[in-house]
Amino acid sequence: MAKPSLLRLLAPAAALTAASAHASCPRGWTQRGGRNVETCAEFKTLPAAWNIDVDAVLSRVDYGLGFLGYTGRERRIELRLFRTRGTYLASSFKPPTWSQGLAIKPKTVLVYAYSKQRSMDETLAHEMTHLRFERYWGKKMPPYWINEGLAMSQENVDPAKSQWYWAMAGFAQRGYLPFPLETFVKLDPITDVGGGAEGVGLWYVEAYALVRFLRSGGADFRFGTLCSDLRKGMSFKDALWDAYRYTSLAGMERKWRRWMAEEIARVPPRFTSSGRAFDPYMDFGL
Ligand SMILES: [Zn+2]
Repeated sequence: MAKPSLLRLLAPAAALTAASAHASCPRGWTQRGGRNVETCAEFKTLPAAWNIDVDAVLSRVDYGLGFLGYTGRERRIELRLFRTRGTYLASSFKPPTWSQGLAIKPKTVLVYAYSKQRSMDETLAHEMTHLRFERYWGKKMPPYWINEGLAMSQENVDPAKSQWYWAMAGFAQRGYLPFPLETFVKLDPITDVGGGAEGVGLWYVEAYALVRFLRSGGADFRFGTLCSDLRKGMSFKDALWDAYRYTSLAGMERKWRRWMAEEIARVPPRFTSSGRAFDPYMDFGL
């Protein structure tokens, strides 16, 4: 398998032109308008319940992001559904070759229909979360760890079935965290994790585990404060004190590790029909 181009791993949405993001639905494609999602699909037809299904995914995303208290959720989303990975990659949006979907500010989401790695609902929820969260940040972009961690944490209704959860279980069992916390929150996975897909995969799992921890135990209100503080430009350490009253990163990390061990013991990972172990090379990204 060709090595993914890590330079394009998290290509900023702004790099894609607004013109291409607002291109009209091509002839021969199917257009469907739901309550909150407008779909343009590379199919002759779509299932009767299509609009209800994608609106339900977006409602779940918005419900999950309620702690942000922002008003952007009324904004409609334009969904481009490609038939195959090939047509997705060949499209004028020029998505990165490693990606399974893409969010383009302010309102466009791209996915393709058949993916071995994840269900389309998971990819949709991931990309819709990026759209909403990046809008919350306005002209700035959120730190990578919180943007990706949040998107991953919103993929599944049942997190124990998530590939990220399985990988986090692996960390918890070995008491392993790949990157020290203080540096982790500053890392740019494109340039700072050694340029290998495996390192990037580990980075994603750590981001998932950290966001899950910071949102655990009904802490979404605190997590919302953390997001707001970081958006204002506060350092991670100061925001952590303001939102959670942790006096040190080391103290937070001890609680994080304990939470992971307890969470995995309480909710063992449940493998889906594929039963496949997490493969960072195949599974990271978006
Ligand atoms: Zn992503």
